[in-house]
Amino acid sequence: MLIAAELKNLLEPAQLVDLEITWLAADQPTPKGDWVALVPLLSRWVGGTQLKHLPNLRIVANCAVGYNNVDVVAAEMRKVIVTNTPGVLTEATADLTWALILATARRLIEGVDLVRTGQWTGWHPEQLLGLELRGRTLGLFGAGRIGQAVGRRAPPFGLRIRYTARTPKPEFERETGAVRVDASQLLGDSDILSLHVPSTPETKGIIDGETLARMKRGAILINTSRGDLIREEALATSLELGHIGAAGLDVYTEEPTIHPRLLAAPRTVLLPHIGSATEDTRRKMAASAVANVQSVLSGKPPLTPVY
Ligand code: NAP
Repeated sequence: MLIAAELKNLLEPAQLVDLEITWLAADQPTPKGDWVALVPLLSRWVGGTQLKHLPNLRIVANCAVGYNNVDVVAAEMRKVIVTNTPGVLTEATADLTWALILATARRLIEGVDLVRTGQWTGWHPEQLLGLELRGRTLGLFGAGRIGQAVGRRAPPFGLRIRYTARTPKPEFERETGAVRVDASQLLGDSDILSLHVPSTPETKGIIDGETLARMKRGAILINTSRGDLIREEALATSLELGHIGAAGLDVYTEEPTIHPRLLAAPRTVLLPHIGSATEDTRRKMAASAVANVQSVLSGKPPLTPVY
């Protein structure tokens, strides 16, 4: 099997028994050959060409829950199973989402900069005034595993929850008081809008100039899902004009490149795609991907197939 070399330290030898492994470095193109399994990182595109060059491939076990780096239509046509790592990264990603909510609402980075640059001259009643969370509305665009986990952390902060998903989530509503609304109402109601839909042809660019204009003046936008949900030029413009009050982003359209206007925009907290980056979670993600391979190669069904 071909497996991303960056996962080496996260896997135990016992998890790799009976597997003949070729470690694949991130900067190495996907090779041609008779490998039967591929465990890529989300930064590796696995499309029709790569699949054609791996004629014996039986499984692509993506080491992520998002699988927009895999052409699933091409894989299905070639009868290649595609799996992801759902669940194991939900809580870590929800925690990181909250780190961004708090950092943007309470202007953490500006405060750190003030202290570090020696420009802090002392307590001032109007210094770095942020957004009081209590009584405000948190909008969840997508309420699957991660969206709901973010929502479950909201009631102690006194936030009311609105969410958009294709199907209602009655248990989540009972637990948190969340109310399902359509996308248009979500945009208009949210003081903090957090994106948790996957990147698909329907969701790419859902946050553009028009949708940003429908958000409240001063609202905060959080994205720990996938970068291409947002048109970054439009977000930069909105931040520059002060319509969107702040943005907390973990993901970008062209990673690791960040749009220069976003880098320069005011009131942003920009992280390097670390939503699931805790040691426990990254070990579980690697283990989940390899367990899918082991299952399929031993003739059993995949554990977490994407279709
Ligand atoms: P999930 O459980 O599949 O949840 C996805 C949610 O999006 C569901 O509520 C789904 O609605 C909704 N949805 C899908 N398409 C939609 C559409 N067109 N319109 C409205 N709602 C739509 O996925 P998850 O485990 O929460 O993960 C979400 C995403 O987070 C992943 O796809 C991944 O890209 C990203 N992620 C990022 C990091 C990071 O490091 N920053 C880490 C983990 C995950 P239904 O429930 O009605 O189907």
